[in-house]
Amino acid sequence: MASISLKELNKSYGALTVVHDIDLEIADKEFIILVGPSGCGKSTTLRMIAGLEEISGGELRIGGDVMNDVPSKDRDIAMVFQNYALYPHMTVYKNMAFGLQLRKVSRDFIDAQVQDAAKILDITHLLNRKPKALSGGQRQRVALGRAMVRNPAVFLLDEPLSNLDAKLRGTMRSEITKLHKRLNATFIYVTHDQVEAMTMADRIVVMKDGHIQQVDTPQKLYDHPVNMFVAGFIGAPQ
Ligand code: ADP
Ligand code: MG
Repeated sequence: MASISLKELNKSYGALTVVHDIDLEIADKEFIILVGPSGCGKSTTLRMIAGLEEISGGELRIGGDVMNDVPSKDRDIAMVFQNYALYPHMTVYKNMAFGLQLRKVSRDFIDAQVQDAAKILDITHLLNRKPKALSGGQRQRVALGRAMVRNPAVFLLDEPLSNLDAKLRGTMRSEITKLHKRLNATFIYVTHDQVEAMTMADRIVVMKDGHIQQVDTPQKLYDHPVNMFVAGFIGAPQ
């Protein structure tokens, strides 16, 4: 079970509060998208869920358990970043296997996981290449593959498509939607792109200045934005 619950979650850097008492319930296997302008606290929220950023206050639960003080490596979560963060000196295979090699699992298991993920992502022919010999879209697939090999219950994706050109972004949007259905995992996805949010999400969380403005399905957000900010951001008529 990977339902996720944020209760009055907040984050401050010294006197500066960047995430203000966020309440959010995410269902197991939901595809939820956090949107909002640059600097509104999307990445910070994601990083607190990942355990990469200390929580200043409030409560984070994953699958019912309080996770505030659980180290990142002990959370059943994988994160995909905007800049892919691939290891340049390692092959694609190594990049995908590396996280598992740090665990006590057999070489055969690792190989099966890497081959499975590579097949799903259609990158089997790239396994012996280094990242610099890949296109942007191929690198993105490797980053997804690296997350997949661990079979996490939760995927956190921070603007994973923002470095791709518009055409490839369109392709990858539908690929990631398919991947979500296939993997049976909870996806929390950050973007500042309204089209991504409207086309991919089960529900959208609209953020502004560290506050949640509205949480709803794309259709409801479009039909009934709660304020001018949401209406403007989603592009609905006002
Ligand atoms: P988003 O992902 O929505 O663009 P972020 O979560 O990255 O926004 O940042 C939210 C706010 O927190 C921004 O105003 C940013 O400048 C600030 N911030 C992020 N990291 C730090 C840090 N380490 N120290 C101080 N302020 C930070
Ligand atoms: Mg960000």
